[in-house]
Amino acid sequence: MKIVVLKFGGTSVGTTKKIKKVSEIISSYIRKKYKVIVVSSAMSGVTNDLVNKSKEISENFSSNEYDVLVSSGEQVSCALIAGRLKHKGIKSRSWLAWQIPIMTEGQNKNARIIKINKRKILHYLESGGIPIITGFQGIDFDQRITTIGRGGSDASAIMLAKFFNAEKCIIYTDVEGIYTTDPNKLRKAKKIKVISYEEMLEMASLGAKVMQPVSIQDARLNRIDIEVRSSYVNRSGTLITKKKNIKNNKIITGITSTQNDAKVSLIGVKDKPGVAASIFKPLSKNLINVDMVVQNISANGKETDLTFTIKNEDLNRTKKIIKSNIAINFRKMIFDKNVSKISIIGVGMVTTPGVTYRMFQTLADKKINIQVISTSEIKISVLINKKDIKKALSALHKEFNLDK
Ligand code: ASP
Ligand code: MG
Repeated sequence: MKIVVLKFGGTSVGTTKKIKKVSEIISSYIRKKYKVIVVSSAMSGVTNDLVNKSKEISENFSSNEYDVLVSSGEQVSCALIAGRLKHKGIKSRSWLAWQIPIMTEGQNKNARIIKINKRKILHYLESGGIPIITGFQGIDFDQRITTIGRGGSDASAIMLAKFFNAEKCIIYTDVEGIYTTDPNKLRKAKKIKVISYEEMLEMASLGAKVMQPVSIQDARLNRIDIEVRSSYVNRSGTLITKKKNIKNNKIITGITSTQNDAKVSLIGVKDKPGVAASIFKPLSKNLINVDMVVQNISANGKETDLTFTIKNEDLNRTKKIIKSNIAINFRKMIFDKNVSKISIIGVGMVTTPGVTYRMFQTLADKKINIQVISTSEIKISVLINKKDIKKALSALHKEFNLDK
């Protein structure tokens, strides 16, 4: 059986008019003799709205009920898609995750799909039906509804592709694919034809919002090729695949920038073993994600300065936690909300020397000051002033030949 999984994002099913368009895309695969499995997100805005309602009811809204509530948006969009296909004379029906079932493990709000029962869906596909499956939802072993993290329909699609051994998994969205950098920030951004899982994972984690990062990890582990393309225009998108399939001649594949980072510096921290641990332990306990960290070597052996970055929204909580932390001593705390992290990403840097230097020199030529640096095997990130984002993006985009 030649199976294709088609996933439609919230904007692609954002209105009934768009849902009619989606049903045409689905029909085109039926004509190509595919057995089609459809996965849908909620209509755009719906999930956010439900999340807000839960907050209005209680600051500590039960996480079981949260999952029942926020997963309901997908029920609506799937019924509408199935309804439209039936209107066109195509055999179709909606499937809620528990009806299949799609089994998950782990915490509510952030569960993971571990098993999908294939029997009913296979039977339905064989009978010529098009199943329209709710993304984002699952059910746990206590028969309670779960969700798999915001943006989770991507992971639903990838896991369905895995369990049904699909030939293709196509993510339909409101952009034409993955771009070398955000086209809204740099007009010269180009669509990337192929990108490796590793690079895509970095891009998604570093601010390219097209796909949910954990879903890419699922795709990588299961070796599922993904195509990301637009549901509005019929043009080829971006293929996300294994490194082996890529003959790339560029060193850098993409550049990302963040919008909402904040930098915290602790000046005059006692330089003794365990200090960094004492600072970060209460932050991690409060689920505050610390990103970049630098510690200066102390000039006198007694005191040092420590700088780290967090998300803007965590700044107030972070200040409070640090101030009330009796395990640490420091002279002064400074923070800066006007920072942005720019990252260059590319598997090519593993084998090409001098990439770090070229990045730093390019920024120096533009008189852009680098505040913090962090690197991994396939990415280099620097923290700069927010006002320099555009300048930095455009200079780096040119330096690493992404303009062409
Ligand atoms: N509707 C869910 C959300 O907004 C899942 C998704 O869009 O993938 O997070
Ligand atoms: Mg979405």
